[in-house]
Amino acid sequence: MISQRIKRMTPSATSTLNGMVSEMKARGEHVISFNVGEPDFDTPAAVREALKEATDTGKTRYVAVGGITPLREAIAAKLKKDNGLNYTAEQICVSTGGKQAVFNAVMTICDPGDEVIVVAPCWVSYVEMIKLAEAVPIVVESAEDYHLSINNIRAAITNRTKAIIINTPNNPTGAVYNEEELKALAELAKEHEMYILSDEIYEKLIYGDKKHVSIASISQDAYDRTITLNGFAKAYCMTGWRLGYAAGPADIIKGMISFQGHSTSNSTTMVQWAGIAALEKCDTEVEEMRQAFEKRRDYMKQRLDAVTGIKAGMPDGAFYFMPDVSCWFDKTYTDGDENVKIGDAQGFSQYLLREAGVAVVPGDAFEAPNTVRFAYPVSVETIKEGMDKIEAALAKLK
Ligand code: GLU
Repeated sequence: MISQRIKRMTPSATSTLNGMVSEMKARGEHVISFNVGEPDFDTPAAVREALKEATDTGKTRYVAVGGITPLREAIAAKLKKDNGLNYTAEQICVSTGGKQAVFNAVMTICDPGDEVIVVAPCWVSYVEMIKLAEAVPIVVESAEDYHLSINNIRAAITNRTKAIIINTPNNPTGAVYNEEELKALAELAKEHEMYILSDEIYEKLIYGDKKHVSIASISQDAYDRTITLNGFAKAYCMTGWRLGYAAGPADIIKGMISFQGHSTSNSTTMVQWAGIAALEKCDTEVEEMRQAFEKRRDYMKQRLDAVTGIKAGMPDGAFYFMPDVSCWFDKTYTDGDENVKIGDAQGFSQYLLREAGVAVVPGDAFEAPNTVRFAYPVSVETIKEGMDKIEAALAKLK
């Protein structure tokens, strides 16, 4: 009999759907993936070379659970340069992907019954991680433009509130929180003594004149109660390499390292050496990719706006659109003799996959059931083909 803990859990919709789409592609089916948040560029050459060099020079053994000192120092230097944050190497824990860094943090701060606020729409794994820690996820709505609603957050606080998880730039909405709203949140966190888990994995993907602000840089108090979470997957096209990190108060990082020491131990040694090259040698590639993503965003926005009934705002970061598509839910299509109603976001996504061969993620997985998530880390040509097919498929609905 499997545990209640696992029975209560919902598998990751993004990872599951991506596995399904990969299998369809392996069977020779042509599927356009607007589903997974995975950049389509190659990992920069300097990172690949550093991996080879590390492997060939025997950097293949166990190392300290929290990471090799040169990588922790390189991360500390990055946090100082990019984010205005002062952390020592001991305040950093290197993990096997940003996902593990978030999970370590949740497991380290939560006792059973503690409440953790998450802002919807939110990435699929936060709620499940909180449940796995036997804490209680409290999902609050964001404001209409997908920015923080300080009022909604305030209304959700109880004497059991332990922490809030924020993600800026945001997956799945693309919202980039500004300094003002982060200041207001930092004040609220101080007043109610909450930890802040700040997931900043999309930090390098920001468009127009928007800027990334790390909430830990707002004040000494915010710094003392924030765990800054980040990873290499999105900025350096290192999704499969599984490398992420957390920086925060020394006692919490120590706890996270203890926990990691009993689960995965150190993240892959030679990948850590390659991570140093990513931080120190790849600014040009990161900027080139950012510019490519900005063009893709602009094109996708233009195409989404052209479809009646898809209400997409203009995301300032990451590579996602999260439009409301609920006006399609009462439409129908024919399947043989049967009339099938779209019904909900799941039905909408299933219809796009079946009729257009385009995969998108239903918003239920992100606590936003009237929406679907379109990811655009694909070429402009692929976006064009996918949107042409979506338009044609939606035109057939009655
Ligand atoms: N974070 C990416 C996404 O949301 C990758 C899959 C996952 O880990 O959830 O699509």
